Amino acid sequence: MLLKRGIAVSPGVAVGPAVVLGVETFRIPSQYVRVDAVESELDRLDRALERISTEIGENEQIAADRLGAQYGAIFAAHGQLARDASFQDEVRAYIRKKNYSPEFAASRVIRKYTKALQEMGNPQMAERAADLFDLEKRVLRELLGQGRDELKNLTDPVVLLAKNLTPSETASLDRSKILAFVTEGGGRTSHTAILAGALELPAVVGVGRFLSDVAGGETVIVDGQRGELLIDPDEETLADYRRRAEARRTESIRLQTYRDVQPRTRDGERIFIMGNIEFPEEVGHCTDRGSDGVGLYRTEFLYLQGDAEPTEEEHYDAYCKVVTAMAGRPVVIRTMDLGADKVSDSMRRGIAGHLDSALGLRSIRLSLQNLPSFKTQLRAVLRASAFGDVRVMFPLVSTLLELRQAKMVLADVMEDLDEEGIEFRRDIPIGMMVEVPSAALRADDFAREVDFFSIGTNDLIQYTLAADRADPDLANLYSAGDPSVLRLIRWVVEAAARHDVPVTICGQMSSDPKFLPLLLGLGIRQISVTPHVIPELKDLAGRLEVAGCEGVAAHAEGLELARDVENYLRDEVERTRSGRPEPDDRAALVRPKSKRSDHWAGAAR
Ligand code: PEP
Ligand code: MG
Repeated sequence: MLLKRGIAVSPGVAVGPAVVLGVETFRIPSQYVRVDAVESELDRLDRALERISTEIGENEQIAADRLGAQYGAIFAAHGQLARDASFQDEVRAYIRKKNYSPEFAASRVIRKYTKALQEMGNPQMAERAADLFDLEKRVLRELLGQGRDELKNLTDPVVLLAKNLTPSETASLDRSKILAFVTEGGGRTSHTAILAGALELPAVVGVGRFLSDVAGGETVIVDGQRGELLIDPDEETLADYRRRAEARRTESIRLQTYRDVQPRTRDGERIFIMGNIEFPEEVGHCTDRGSDGVGLYRTEFLYLQGDAEPTEEEHYDAYCKVVTAMAGRPVVIRTMDLGADKVSDSMRRGIAGHLDSALGLRSIRLSLQNLPSFKTQLRAVLRASAFGDVRVMFPLVSTLLELRQAKMVLADVMEDLDEEGIEFRRDIPIGMMVEVPSAALRADDFAREVDFFSIGTNDLIQYTLAADRADPDLANLYSAGDPSVLRLIRWVVEAAARHDVPVTICGQMSSDPKFLPLLLGLGIRQISVTPHVIPELKDLAGRLEVAGCEGVAAHAEGLELARDVENYLRDEVERTRSGRPEPDDRAALVRPKSKRSDHWAGAAR
């Protein structure tokens, strides 16, 4: 049994056979073969190895003729490996003694050697490991023949293990066939992680290298709460996980009683908890939990699902579905936020520019450069506004000019609809995401020109700390508890209050219960979260008091390190949940006096 730890991004526990997606998506259909099939399976292996050997020999010849002997030698090494007697014997022994399928046995043996080579820490040996991966691919391709599976062709539920999944791959996962997924890369707020939450699929990302430790078909456990992957677990561990899954089910049944509860703090302050959605189907996740609305509808996933851009009617149908289901509760439709890690193949083909850079042509910048497409979306949003409390929101606004241009396009579209006699809500509230430091710093200016703000902490953290949100190596730097982030949030909340502009937090920070006291203490009363955490947040809100939260915020703001802020907030929430009283010396926890005021006080004396 092997335990791997990563970043927990979507809770739940899943147990099942692994499908390992490497660069190529081979799926090993089964781990075992029937006892009476062992001999024929051994024959199948031999034939496959023979064909591989011949193929490699041909490649060697072609490479040597065209490129020179040294290139031919690369294939010669592969051939040697395929013919290696000890390798072949080990694979055969697995098939004979353990009834493993040839695919599973070969993959297991090759991965064992690969791992050993990688662990030697010698670059030359690591290159040999790449040769072995290549051999594994050849063996599987040969053994599986036409049976090489794409994710779409899964027949039984599996746990997906991959180096990385793109948001569009994640968006198209079949929830009935994928029990959970684990990736080597990815960060806490990468869109792949967010989608896992949307699909309510247990997921762990940012595990680092582990794919060479696991073979397709092997049993694995994924714990999306603790951020753990267990490969080949023993019986005791399996039983322990089943018990924990049961305890979680009981807790989620208890939380279901919060469905019709309006969230309020213990001292009666109403908190509005809305849901973030990516697909119209998710609106049920919100209504099932008694959400106060949809605080963020990430419409870009409409663009990522198909090959062609969505038509006005496709937009309109999706929005109407959500608006109707929310039955009068607010629905904030964010115009498409494509670019960075959310890029479709058709976009790549159609647009020149740095689409996949977080600092490039993305989001509202892209919409403003593609007016016909932007207008199509806005027409649909406006048409849907006739059926409920629709609000429109622009993402990634960084300058006033951008905001004004976007509003002008909206006004143009309104004029068109008027001329066509199409009904819509003329006074539709217009909001913007505050997720770029320039927008946060100029919150006073922006507040004069919008009806609401929504703070997108996922990007705000990324841009404030210059830390890619999807990079697991920066997981410690990328922190919602960083004092710079807290300062920007307070700044925006205070500016919004001065102009009487409502402000919501819709980044993942607000889905993490440990931040709730801090956010309430900073003056936030509206959050928009991954729907499955709504009941837990309602429960927690009911245990908090505003004055206590203000003390928590003041203390957190006085701390110097993100790590200390996060640890403090974690302890606070545990204390609240366990019912331990607040410390009497809360006043002593409040922000220390600044050096600057001391300095001037001294100068005045
Ligand atoms: C954010 O940046 O916090 C946000 C909510 O938007 P997204 O995660 O879609 O970039
Ligand atoms: Mg964002």
